[in-house]
Amino acid sequence: MIKGTIEQIKHIKNKLGDRVIIPAHHYQVPQIVALADFVGDSYKLALECSRTDSEFIIFCGVNFMAEVANILGKPHQKVLIPDISSGCPLADTIDGETVARVYKKISSLCERQVMPVVYINSSAEVKSFCGEKGGSVCTSSNAAKITEHFLDKGKAVFFSPDFNLGINTARKLQISDEKIVNVKRDSKLETTGNIKSGTLFIWDGSCYVHKEFTLADVESLRGKYPDINIIVHPECDEDVVNLADISSSTQKIYDEIKKAPSGSIWGVGTEYHFVERITREFSDRQIMPLRKSICVDMAKISPNRLLDSLVSVSNYLETKGTLKYEIKVPESFKENAALALKKMIQIVED
Ligand code: SF4
Repeated sequence: MIKGTIEQIKHIKNKLGDRVIIPAHHYQVPQIVALADFVGDSYKLALECSRTDSEFIIFCGVNFMAEVANILGKPHQKVLIPDISSGCPLADTIDGETVARVYKKISSLCERQVMPVVYINSSAEVKSFCGEKGGSVCTSSNAAKITEHFLDKGKAVFFSPDFNLGINTARKLQISDEKIVNVKRDSKLETTGNIKSGTLFIWDGSCYVHKEFTLADVESLRGKYPDINIIVHPECDEDVVNLADISSSTQKIYDEIKKAPSGSIWGVGTEYHFVERITREFSDRQIMPLRKSICVDMAKISPNRLLDSLVSVSNYLETKGTLKYEIKVPESFKENAALALKKMIQIVED
């Protein structure tokens, strides 16, 4: 008898025991979240993965997250992603060559030493460049702390790839407009503002999922529910963040709603699968999406793809077949990318 996909996943996972672990990002579809060993945002998953000893990490998220698990992983561990085409269009807005070109241009004109700070939503190659120059990775929960760390030391910061997270961080740190320089995503890498006296240089990448939320979405929910709490992700546009009551990482959005009283009303501006799930999980609160904005790359990880991954691990252990799909960061990027990630953990945990 052919078992259903979910039963087969549970059966193989059970058979493999501690040898395999399945982390899932908050934006995964509900069926995947239900099968995961732990769920979190990029920062939480990076930390959890670095603490596990399982031989196989089947990462249910997008490519850069699986790369982070590989960079921070132990030598005996193998990291798999169920769908190899699950990328991040935001991370793809800047590659290693471009980040180096922009850095060179800014560094040659700015009167301060420039430190790269890269959002975790970036390729291993970009993280590696950042580590090589003494910079740090950041996440949406610690972007302000990491940026401030370097500014306090008298450095300037080149922040990439998400413009909204950069500008919302600048507002939080009360950096004046004349100190902020926007680096355009065109072939000439044009900039706005004065590079010489600039302290925060921001690449203009964006996440299409969070760019979708508008002022009208916020105003419409506020009009219908005067007592509503609006909570949004800092990858949203600045005016949306300004009109919201709270702006925070996905993990903090989850924590905030979890501790909210029964009967409270929430409008949430982040990926729809996450909002849909917490609506069910916290059914005694009234939770609504600002609009249904879906990350199609996250949604590529289906139970069938996860089953393929698990079957490949099982076959690999029995016959040494091929793993589907292993993520291996080139050794040339690993060491410096790890430096940039560990720098973030050190600044945050200090
Ligand atoms: S939600 Fe946005 S930043 Fe996150 S993986 Fe999807 S495209 Fe990338």
